Amino acid sequence: MPGRAASLLYANRLPIYCWEVDWGQSGARMCGVRADDRGFTLVETMVVVAILGVLVLIAFASYGVSVGQAQRVACLHNQRVIQDAVIQYEIANNSMYPPVLNDLAPYVRRLPELDKCTSPPFNPLVYDPDTGTVSCSTPGHQQ
Ligand SMILES: [Zn+2]
Repeated sequence: MPGRAASLLYANRLPIYCWEVDWGQSGARMCGVRADDRGFTLVETMVVVAILGVLVLIAFASYGVSVGQAQRVACLHNQRVIQDAVIQYEIANNSMYPPVLNDLAPYVRRLPELDKCTSPPFNPLVYDPDTGTVSCSTPGHQQ
């Protein structure tokens, strides 16, 4: 049986109401957050949404940068793997460079996956049979 409403207390800025309850002879005091509290104002909600938007923007921007760095490192790794295979081919074939990259198939597992750039539009790696060098045409992917 709730009794009369008592004082309004503010603890951590939450409106807490207490009231006296009469259970038999011993009175008790109950406290709680008022049920009809108005919640957040429009301005408070807009500020929260704006802050969340800025955080999401920052997260997406740094995600894009990280993806670009990972693609660059993977491309450089693929170039080194193929360059090592060119040297293996050269040693096994009397100092001759392979005429085309497909000749490296015995030396590189999954060559069809490695002989193209890891960034869109996934250009094929550039192989020069005269110098035996492998490179990528994507800006920033040069060793
Ligand atoms: Zn590349």
